[in-house]
Amino acid sequence: MKPDTDIIDTTQAFVIRGAEVIDGSGAPRFEADVVVRGGLIDAIVPPGSASTPQVLDGSGLILCPGFIDTHSHDDLLVLQATEPHPKLAQGVCTVVTGNCGISLAPLLVEHPPAPLDLLDAEGAPRLADFRDYLARLDATPLALNVVPLIGHSNLRLKHLADLQRPADAAQVDAMRDEVSAALDAGGFGLSTGVYYPPARAATTAELIGVSAALQGRPGAVLAMHLRDEADHIDAAIAEALEVGASNGATLVLSHHKVMGRRNHGRTRQTLQAIETAAGLQSVCIDCYPYAASSTMLRLDRIADSDDVLITTSVPHPEQGGRRLAAIAADWGVPQSEAAQRLMPGGAVYFALAESDVERVLVHPLAMIGSDGLPHDRHPHPRLWGSFPRVLGHYSRERGLLPLESAVHKMTGLPARRFGLADRGRVAVGQAADLVLFDAARVRDAASYEAPAQAPEGIHAVLVNGRLAQWQGRAVDRAAGRRLTRQRDADKVAR
Ligand SMILES: [Zn+2]
Repeated sequence: MKPDTDIIDTTQAFVIRGAEVIDGSGAPRFEADVVVRGGLIDAIVPPGSASTPQVLDGSGLILCPGFIDTHSHDDLLVLQATEPHPKLAQGVCTVVTGNCGISLAPLLVEHPPAPLDLLDAEGAPRLADFRDYLARLDATPLALNVVPLIGHSNLRLKHLADLQRPADAAQVDAMRDEVSAALDAGGFGLSTGVYYPPARAATTAELIGVSAALQGRPGAVLAMHLRDEADHIDAAIAEALEVGASNGATLVLSHHKVMGRRNHGRTRQTLQAIETAAGLQSVCIDCYPYAASSTMLRLDRIADSDDVLITTSVPHPEQGGRRLAAIAADWGVPQSEAAQRLMPGGAVYFALAESDVERVLVHPLAMIGSDGLPHDRHPHPRLWGSFPRVLGHYSRERGLLPLESAVHKMTGLPARRFGLADRGRVAVGQAADLVLFDAARVRDAASYEAPAQAPEGIHAVLVNGRLAQWQGRAVDRAAGRRLTRQRDADKVAR
């Protein structure tokens, strides 16, 4: 591994020369030299006119803002030294953690119920309070920037004796107060996942009560995994919109999709409903660029799927990476029985229509979020491939959207939605989270068969003006930081 100083000394000013700039706003690309100084973008000048002696050659490459993964489950990953790094390898400089109602804190029980066990990998701490997680982030060298959300399911586990019941008034108050304390301490918002067993009994009234903590906090985020993404998706969207409207938060509908063959094509209606609501309240969606989903092993999902790939199994870890049909055949049992023997576990479900995936991806309200599951034994390829797949497969190869729009969905758009005033654009004064990539070569290499594959064509990744990744190699794994909702440009230089 080459040390930072052999390539460029980022403690001194330097210029990225010769690249075409896609600035993250959605505007057409332009040629410019970009000067970085003290962690910030210091100047954007005509090609060849910067006099800064240190040069990072961007010839033939695109320079754009660092990508923002709007939907991650990297709460634990960001605290760990991980090499190679699935997100930096893609050009991701910032991850939103704590999605789907699941966060690393508060969490005290030894064996958390699924899907809270998704973050319970080796080395996972037990933290009584969300503020303890924020303190961990501040005390740990971070490879990239972190935007933390607190999970509603964690709060239920902490405050309810019986998860099968709706919270009573006192429990709602206790959860709401804990969200308030998390926001006061630097959390960006709340996530919910009433699709999942620990929160399924939560009523709309409970969600409104707990999320009332977001009220009066401009830019606070409410990320919701819908109650249903199949036959009853319309009612689930209506519920989410009602909860979002009740508190005025920025509502993010997670990994938007419609599951099951009989529902294929329904994104025409769901997107229309969301678009109509967007005229009245702040709402947007995140999505990943694949026609298969992944979550805990569930019989209802198997019934809705054409094929199922096991990603992880507690009783049968050796079956990770195999198709459920093959496992069932080996065991001489129906697939449903094989699935029950494999539980608890996780799976990839081939249950989406490609046309729905594309319709969602190009929608103006859609941001990119990987929803990658970093602790799965055989993860869905979205963990390693989401961002380059949009740039390579969907923009260049399929011609589905211009590269400028693809970059906007990963940078300027999410920065605005999450209140990251000093990120998401190549503009003077912005934090120097930057990616240099080869538009002709960028592609995802991760597949369902071999998911842990770094993408190609990502040349350099800078986090807060420091070179984090260079031609696929790790350089600096401590350039990130926990971000705050307030403008923190004055704290960027260091
Ligand atoms: Zn989810």
